[in-house]
Amino acid sequence: MSEHQIITIPILPFGMVHCHLVIGTNGCVLVDTGIPGSEGKIERALEQHGRKLSDITLIVVTHAHTDHAGSAARLRELTGAPILAHAGDLDYYERRKEMSYCVAHWWGPLFLRSGVPGEPYTAFTPDIMLQDNASLDLSRFGIEGTARHTPGHTAGSVSVELNGGDALVGDLIASGVFLGGMMRTGHAIRPPFEDDPQAVSAELMSMVHAGMQRFHMGHGGPLGVEEVSRHANALRDMMPGRRYTLQRGECSCAKGKLTEMRHAKSDLDANESASPK
Ligand SMILES: [Zn+2]
Ligand SMILES: [Zn+2]
Repeated sequence: MSEHQIITIPILPFGMVHCHLVIGTNGCVLVDTGIPGSEGKIERALEQHGRKLSDITLIVVTHAHTDHAGSAARLRELTGAPILAHAGDLDYYERRKEMSYCVAHWWGPLFLRSGVPGEPYTAFTPDIMLQDNASLDLSRFGIEGTARHTPGHTAGSVSVELNGGDALVGDLIASGVFLGGMMRTGHAIRPPFEDDPQAVSAELMSMVHAGMQRFHMGHGGPLGVEEVSRHANALRDMMPGRRYTLQRGECSCAKGKLTEMRHAKSDLDANESASPK
């Protein structure tokens, strides 16, 4: 049985935006870094739990949206810990491409116009870059669990699955109202932006089947497995929210790109399990 503690670090009030610290027997892993300038809040949260920034052994960035990757570069400087992320979002981490947003709610375009989602952050190149459908055992960083590619919210979304049934899933799911948090935090919703709901559904179901029981997210939460299953089922046949998209140029959702990626991944898994050892 694994021993770990999950600490929710508030970045914005009412559970609208937060990141998480996983304290294991031999290390502390920070999952997401908040908006730009969040390092002080993260440091204070660590101190409240008798830790300091230099105790962080790994920074996992679940995806390239500014409320998750915003303080990654600064926190790497302050902690000396490597950043783990997936190559699918690399162009955005390195600020080589403007982020595209596939809006999932009617109010999404208003939110986009506010400029908040597109707030620029300091570019960085992850030290540990997951490729394709790779996963990485995190025991070398002092916690019992795995970081895994879970595309859908964005092409390069990553989740952490801990032994014992806790999953940290970034924005694969949210709960509450609007951004998430505030009210009805036990009720699952789509986050403001979502590239491919069908891919999200498949990834959430695969975590449910793998035995995950509690889901920790960037907005609202945590949620139990029943609510996550209900939401994953509701997303299963949903098309991406193209009609809300105001984005100029290419948008991942417009092409169903991630669902294709997900299908390719399933074929690969099927071939691997079918091939003789
Ligand atoms: Zn996001
Ligand atoms: Zn987010």
